Amino acid sequence: MKRRDLFAGSFALGAVAARNSWASVPAAAAALQRTATPGTMPHLPPLHVHMNQLTDIKVCLRPFRAAGPRLDVEKIGDKTVIHHYGHGGSGWSLSWGSADIVVGKAASTLEKRVAVIGCGVIGLTTALTAQRAGMDVTIYTKDLLPHTRSVRANGSWTPDSRIALTKPAGPGFASLWEQMARYSWKTYRDYLGLPGNPIDFRDSYTLSDTPFDQTP
Ligand SMILES: Cc1cc2nc3c(=O)[nH]c(=O)nc-3n(C[C@H](O)[C@H](O)[C@H](O)COP(=O)(O)OP(=O)(O)OC[C@H]3O[C@@H](n4cnc5c(N)ncnc54)[C@H](O)[C@@H]3O)c2cc1C
Repeated sequence: MKRRDLFAGSFALGAVAARNSWASVPAAAAALQRTATPGTMPHLPPLHVHMNQLTDIKVCLRPFRAAGPRLDVEKIGDKTVIHHYGHGGSGWSLSWGSADIVVGKAASTLEKRVAVIGCGVIGLTTALTAQRAGMDVTIYTKDLLPHTRSVRANGSWTPDSRIALTKPAGPGFASLWEQMARYSWKTYRDYLGLPGNPIDFRDSYTLSDTPFDQTP
């Protein structure tokens, strides 16, 4: 749902509820052709899903690094290498915040020319963040869009998906993760409502043959 619609919906809901005193939020939401607010159970129409409605199947590996993303700095010869990989199932979600951290590290070297290796979501957000910081950026990559793994991913807001294991990540990871997540959220928020809808709010549903409160 677009943010504009969300606000329009809440104002309209207030107006309708005052006029008709709907018995429940889902009833009012249905009358408005909107989705009920979280915490209530909307009435979903039955899905008519058939194999011939599948338009695409994508398969690829979801990489996982037990210690969480690697963001450390290494000196190789006269080059400063800043590692930036290993975001597991959270690369889209944490990308801007993670890029902000590594570009900060690059900036502290006072070097203006930066080479970014790779143009998945991590490479692209790093390159853009570095450009916005005034650096001259060149991207070197094996695969161009749309052939990166990032393009095959969902791109949903899932900042805690397969991001790390508690022990290998260590005690400092929680605050680093929070820093990345908060910065990314704020950055994505700025893209709401732009032409082409690069970012939007969507309802999503999970199907299961067994009730969700039972272990399958
Ligand atoms: C199925 C699936 C669903 C996902 N869903 C989500 C989601 O909903 N939300 C979310 O936040 N995250 C999600 N993720 C995770 C997210 O997609 C990844 O964390 C993210 O795409 C990783 O980005 P990347 O740029 O590091 O890697 P990639 O997209 O793999 O990009 C790597 C780049 O490096 C280049 N490269 C590789 N080797 C070399 C080389 N030797 N020389 C030069 N260039 C090289 C490649 O060509 C490519 O350009 C999902 C992942 C998968 C697999």
